[in-house]
Amino acid sequence: MENFRDQREDPVSKLVFELSKLPGIGEKTATRLAYFILKQDSAYPEALAGAILSAKRKVGLCRTCHTLTDGETCRICSNAQRDLFHMVLIDSALKAGKLPLARMLLSERTGDKPNSRWSWLRFAEALEGSGDAAQAAVARARASMLKAA
Ligand SMILES: [Zn+2]
Repeated sequence: MENFRDQREDPVSKLVFELSKLPGIGEKTATRLAYFILKQDSAYPEALAGAILSAKRKVGLCRTCHTLTDGETCRICSNAQRDLFHMVLIDSALKAGKLPLARMLLSERTGDKPNSRWSWLRFAEALEGSGDAAQAAVARARASMLKAA
């Protein structure tokens, strides 16, 4: 019992014990890591401990997909939400006959997402609506190329 307490209170044993809880780290590797850490000057263990604490405080799980993120929603999910919002905006601009707005949004979108068939079809629709048949035909051709692919 005395021996066990001594071992747990020994700072090196405590470090080895904590490191050995990491996945894939047995006692032997934990001991090697502990010695490595202890041989460095104090800047390294401070940076390591700081990085662990900072990541633990700042990083959580994405509300939508549960991957690690430093915000409420990860970058992929927030881009997907923004993209969906953008599509709704384009559809309502087309339905409301706001063709200059639809054209502007679609010109930007087909530049950002040249492989989006949806965008080329809407772009063709907006161009036709504003009497630009030649450009509309180009946009339709882009869309049908993507359909074939
Ligand atoms: Zn996510």
